[in-house]
Amino acid sequence: MTTLGLKDCRPEVLSFALLMERELRANDHKSGWKGDCPDTLAERVEEEAEELRRASIDWMGHVAHSERPLSEAVAEEAADVANMAMMVADVCNALPPAPSIDNGQAAALAGLVDAWESLPGGKFYSMKVIEAWLIDKMAPAVNQARALLGRSVSA
Ligand SMILES: [Mg+2]
Repeated sequence: MTTLGLKDCRPEVLSFALLMERELRANDHKSGWKGDCPDTLAERVEEEAEELRRASIDWMGHVAHSERPLSEAVAEEAADVANMAMMVADVCNALPPAPSIDNGQAAALAGLVDAWESLPGGKFYSMKVIEAWLIDKMAPAVNQARALLGRSVSA
């Protein structure tokens, strides 16, 4: 099996990994999955997949059940499915070793997660607030990640 690192990941995969981590952090108050049975967790994958199916149908039909943006509901449910699947693989000792993350990589990832979480979901924001968030939080975090990946950094 080819050894891959973070720099080999597609932008969509990195973005989705951050979504997964965000959802896991939102549930840090729970007991975790390490002692759970794989079949029980696999059933949860199916439950979460059904929640994702319903969220995607709502997204297609523009059917809002709350003030939460429909795309946010899809993102959260997709991350729930992936996290449950990850937990099944984890308790079955089926996950390959995580790539080593040096301090620079860890700082870049932490910066991205922190920037992402600094604008909580489930709220409506004005364009001015979003613009300020992009400039103040996301741009520095993305530029740090770009520098780490050897990509040019935007001004
Ligand atoms: Mg869910």
